[in-house]
Amino acid sequence: MKKIIELLKIGDLEQSILVSLKDNLNDTFNNLKMAVNISQNAFQLEITEYNSERMQYNADKILDRIIKLTKNHKVFRILGVIDKDIYSELLNFVFGIAIRPIKRISGTPVVSLISVTRLREQFYNKPENDDLFELRILKEAIHELGHTFSLEHCNKFCIMQFSNSLMDTDKKPVQFCESCGEKIINFL
Ligand SMILES: [Zn+2]
Ligand SMILES: [Zn+2]
Repeated sequence: MKKIIELLKIGDLEQSILVSLKDNLNDTFNNLKMAVNISQNAFQLEITEYNSERMQYNADKILDRIIKLTKNHKVFRILGVIDKDIYSELLNFVFGIAIRPIKRISGTPVVSLISVTRLREQFYNKPENDDLFELRILKEAIHELGHTFSLEHCNKFCIMQFSNSLMDTDKKPVQFCESCGEKIINFL
């Protein structure tokens, strides 16, 4: 039986984003005997997760709440998707965050989160490019899910390269390098 990666809508988010992400992620994770579903649940954001001085949402708080609310979901991995600018600890912003387990975890889903807000050309006052937007979302999603399979950042030509900026995201490939791919298989 295939293990399930569940996509979870956080706050207001265009459904079409989740639908195309689901299809694109299935192309990557089918080979690893995983299937991607869209959750029937959707989480609303809470006021305590918003930082009015920074005008951003706190990714760590959101991730913590996702962990609490989904601990009984019978799925393998969860990827929350949000269309708000998010930050984490000392970073000005993050494209995403994830729990990185050291050893295999069973019975409770391992959780990750991405924000699509800074992946739009419009965010930088440029004309929108829908294909590029979709590709960036896919890259960030695979990267954060990679962390949930215990992967660290990688220096090779690999989806697990750290992205400090959107330029970094655009430069990296949409696949795991050979060694990261093997690490996932050994971790599962
Ligand atoms: Zn990372
Ligand atoms: Zn790698």
